[in-house]
Amino acid sequence: MAVGLDLRIEPAKFRLIFAALFFGALMLVVMSYFAARQLLVSGAESGLASRVEVDTLVLEDHVSRTLDTVAARLRSIAAVADPSNHAASATTPALEALILNDSAIRSISLLDDLGRVLASSSAANIGALIPGDAIPQPPGQPARAGEIAFGAVIPYRDLRELGAGKSAGASVWLASLRVESRGKPYHWVVAVNPGLFENFWARLDNDPATEIGLYDYRGRRLISHHAVVPPGGAFSAELLRQASARSIGFYNSADHPSLMVAYRASASHPVIVTVVGDRDRVGPAIAESMRTILYVCAGVASIIVLVVILLYRGYLRYEESVIEASNQARAIGAHLMVSEASPDGTIIRVNDAFVAASGYSEAELVGRNHRLLSSGAHPPEFYEELWQTLRAGRIWKGTLCDRSKSGGLYWVNATIVPFKDAWGRISRYVGYYTDISEAIRLSEQFESERQIREDLATANRDLTTSVNSDPLTRAANRRGFEAFVERVVVSAAGRPQKFTVLSLDIDFFKRINDTYGHAAGDEVLREMSQRWAAEIRASDMLARLGGEEFCVVLPHTGAGQGAHVAEKLREAASAAPVMVSRDGVMESLTVTVSIGVATTDELARLGIDRVLQEADKALYAAKREGRNRVVAASDVR
Ligand code: GH3
Ligand code: MG
Ligand code: MG
Repeated sequence: MAVGLDLRIEPAKFRLIFAALFFGALMLVVMSYFAARQLLVSGAESGLASRVEVDTLVLEDHVSRTLDTVAARLRSIAAVADPSNHAASATTPALEALILNDSAIRSISLLDDLGRVLASSSAANIGALIPGDAIPQPPGQPARAGEIAFGAVIPYRDLRELGAGKSAGASVWLASLRVESRGKPYHWVVAVNPGLFENFWARLDNDPATEIGLYDYRGRRLISHHAVVPPGGAFSAELLRQASARSIGFYNSADHPSLMVAYRASASHPVIVTVVGDRDRVGPAIAESMRTILYVCAGVASIIVLVVILLYRGYLRYEESVIEASNQARAIGAHLMVSEASPDGTIIRVNDAFVAASGYSEAELVGRNHRLLSSGAHPPEFYEELWQTLRAGRIWKGTLCDRSKSGGLYWVNATIVPFKDAWGRISRYVGYYTDISEAIRLSEQFESERQIREDLATANRDLTTSVNSDPLTRAANRRGFEAFVERVVVSAAGRPQKFTVLSLDIDFFKRINDTYGHAAGDEVLREMSQRWAAEIRASDMLARLGGEEFCVVLPHTGAGQGAHVAEKLREAASAAPVMVSRDGVMESLTVTVSIGVATTDELARLGIDRVLQEADKALYAAKREGRNRVVAASDVR
């Protein structure tokens, strides 16, 4: 369990959330772009539709007044002028006066049935011969007098050019009134000035999506501006169908779906006025706005991409730090006991090591106050100091003695850290503990052994009296040896202790006596005693138990350590030769020793003789195996 950190990172889930955020935002931008585009297009289209409708009304008004003017002129001339007279005189001033200041009419002329201009407001027209099919004819057949007919717009400025058959680069719209005089047919022909509409055209010059046009009731297009309507009769047929149903209307062309048509037809006028809008040509008008929207959307999308990338990178850093922290917490938890408490000392979390040391279960600890573990070993001031340090926001370090559930005491080296929240307030205390009970136990044991050794060293000194020691070697004699062993048993005070005895016997000693004399043998005994006494501790004892048989007592010493001491003694014996005199001559003599080792935990129960016996057995084994060696008996029980 990771104490202090309980953050579950789910990388796959968060990556998915970021991807969804990212694509969701981009989708939103793309959708916004298309929605804006749709809005613009439909706005432009509805703008176009309302322009088409309004312009139709304005245009119709304009055309009506022009036509009324033309019709009025034709009727008034027909009423007052006798074609026969005019044909005879060919005078023009009266006609000129009629159209003076009339901007709608360019000229008014009298034609005979052959198309010859008999009289005209424009003198230049007189004599021109107009092709018969150029004279507008009323729809009814046979032709009746008194009817006004409007013809097509033709590319001539006036009748003179029309008669001469040469194009003048301008256009003229002809209207005629058929009259009869003295049984002969004549035509009053007016050249209407189509330029009259030019002010109106100007309104549309900047709007390539709109066309205005005039159609006659046979579906022929008289005048148009901007070629939006495709050539061919389908459009005209549809227009005539619509106009026959209603005199004013607006419809979407079935034949040309992109076209929206507003028209005005009137029984009193010979033309259908139309304004046609082409949705397909709306595009260029809104292209600029579309580009702006595209740039804005691209900008927003880039910002979103940037923001999401920055957020994602921030998240990755956060994820790394959380994983790092949780790894560290795990590592700490594996090494230390960890507990986490609220500011009032209530345990929030503990790790497995803490649970194991306390003897309580996790459930028994969580929710309880840390006091639960108090051993009573520390005075109240100790805890006061601890809490003061923590409340001041400082780390407390020290050694705590706690009581486990079973009542046993255990010692911990504690570091308690006040954890602060984002606002700098202490949110909890996290304690890290190392169990030092074993170290304390060992040091206590070490201390007691040290004490015992001191006592035994003192005992050793006390026993160094003539009664207890051997006069030749100054090693303890059997009496001293027994007294010392008695002290060893007493000092252990019933506690189990390792105890080792070494039994030493100089090799081939009889031969030394025989070869160099008894005094030389004594010298060897003294020398060996000195060397061995120098190798052992003050709390150990060297004793001479018989002729050249020695014994070393090693209290609180196990078999391994005992064998090690024995080896040192063996080496000390032969490390340097002993100087002895033979017949007054000094000679050097190398002495070796065989040593048996015996160790026990139960000296008090078995008695020293039993242990010594085992050491002697090991010594004999060493002798048997060739001498100058150490043999250890198995543990004596
Ligand atoms: P091993 O290697 O088997 O021990 O052979 P060893 O010759 O040492 O045999 P052993 O231990 O039996 O010999 C002991 C001899 O020690 C017998 C005796 O002459 C001699 N001895 C005993 N006490 C003294 C003493 O106080 N001074 C001297 N110089 N010799 C002693
Ligand atoms: Mg011997
Ligand atoms: Mg011997």
